[in-house]
Amino acid sequence: MLIAGEWVEAASGKTYTRANPATGEPVGEVPLGDERDAEHAVAAAAAAFPGWRATPVTERAAALRRTGGVLRARAADIARLITSEQGKPIGAARAEVLAAAELLDWYAEEARRVYGEWIPDPLPDRRLLTVRQPIGVAAAITPWNVPVSMVARKAGAALAAACAVVVKPAEQTPLSALAVAEAFTEAGLPPGAVNVVTGDPASIGGVLLGDDRVRAVSFTGSTATGMLLMRQAAGTVKKLSLELGGNAPFVIFDDADLDLAVAALAAVKFRNAGQTCVSPNRVFVHESVAEAVTARLTRSVRSLHVGNGLAPETQVGPLVDHAALAKVERHVADALDRGARLETGGRRLTGGEYDGGAFYEPTVLSHVDSSMLIATEETFGPVAGLLTFSGEDEVVAAANATPYGLASYVYTRDLGRAFRVAEGIEAGMVGVNDTRLSAPEAPFGGVKHSGLGREGGRQGLDEFLETKLITIGI
Ligand code: ADP
Repeated sequence: MLIAGEWVEAASGKTYTRANPATGEPVGEVPLGDERDAEHAVAAAAAAFPGWRATPVTERAAALRRTGGVLRARAADIARLITSEQGKPIGAARAEVLAAAELLDWYAEEARRVYGEWIPDPLPDRRLLTVRQPIGVAAAITPWNVPVSMVARKAGAALAAACAVVVKPAEQTPLSALAVAEAFTEAGLPPGAVNVVTGDPASIGGVLLGDDRVRAVSFTGSTATGMLLMRQAAGTVKKLSLELGGNAPFVIFDDADLDLAVAALAAVKFRNAGQTCVSPNRVFVHESVAEAVTARLTRSVRSLHVGNGLAPETQVGPLVDHAALAKVERHVADALDRGARLETGGRRLTGGEYDGGAFYEPTVLSHVDSSMLIATEETFGPVAGLLTFSGEDEVVAAANATPYGLASYVYTRDLGRAFRVAEGIEAGMVGVNDTRLSAPEAPFGGVKHSGLGREGGRQGLDEFLETKLITIGI
């Protein structure tokens, strides 16, 4: 782990082994950190904060840019690490590393634009102004599905805001996070500005959420864990950014370009084996085009090549672990029990190259309805469930009939309808004839039980800043 600029073992001396989800073989041994390591890291960040904050912004920005440069130079090696511990195809892993570098470039630029305001004042003998200042020590708790770019996105924003940061990566993907930590140290960040603690989530999280020196926590993960962290943060009134679960609707109207819609759906649904928080979870297809969409999607899904992500021909890798596989099986079994129709897939893959791995065949289910688990919970797997609808108001109401509101998608060629639906859907993000929701320049995040706050864009920096009012009597 990286604490106070040193590579250290866990205080307990214990380690754990991460297994490759494609083979079951060990990828590496990682320190099993606990409360003591988290305390150590928070103290290091608190000690580094004043110096980092006082560093001229041009130097802080340059350090972030250099980190991006290290990631680019090592993209091939880090991509292999991501694929080995997380499973995604090697090309996607490489794209993730490059996206992380781009995020750091963006934050390096945005660090220079932490502007305040001069506010028109009704009183003649007073002036009102605001400055935006770093909140202090920040904690970043990151998920396993995009293990490099999530660390870069959270730590990059915190560092650009001149905060010091403690990262706790997911237990499934510690090595990817440590590779980013290595890039930060090579880029010359001062000791303690970035710390990474691997190990037991509850004991490390308890310290990060309980310690008064930590003023902001940025978390990406499940809604259940987000709710727990929110309760834990109450005791010290921390600022929280939560990027939680989704139940993304993907709406295809009868006037949509069906080729475009189906190609986009197949791409965004099966990327990362369906394990992304913006993955469509409920595909609503207008009844008059349901048969055509089902047939085209099924054809496209049958052609997907499933295998070890290190093999160049692989398009869909394994799920992250066997628990994830069991959840997908449960959702598919429940849907079939309740009357869904299996169009393709529907089983785990075993034997031969799949031995020891957590592989599930890309699956399409039609005749899905809103009573099924697959339509109410995030499946986080390579399964597309198709529902039908007949009217615009009806489908907007159905799309909104969930406590979640992260990503959503609508395919139509009617401009008025595109606006009405985009405005009516309760979600943090709507893709209209598009599925590329994530960009360094753009605010990413959700509403309702999908979370609080935004990452990326100028809004992403606000999560790590406080606005201070200064009044001046003249
Ligand atoms: P998922 O179910 O997608 O793995 P989690 O919410 O369990 O989502 O995990 C997201 C991140 O939250 C991971 O880094 C995980 O280790 C961390 N985490 C899980 N439980 C806790 C906890 N009690 N305190 C702090 N972090 C936690």
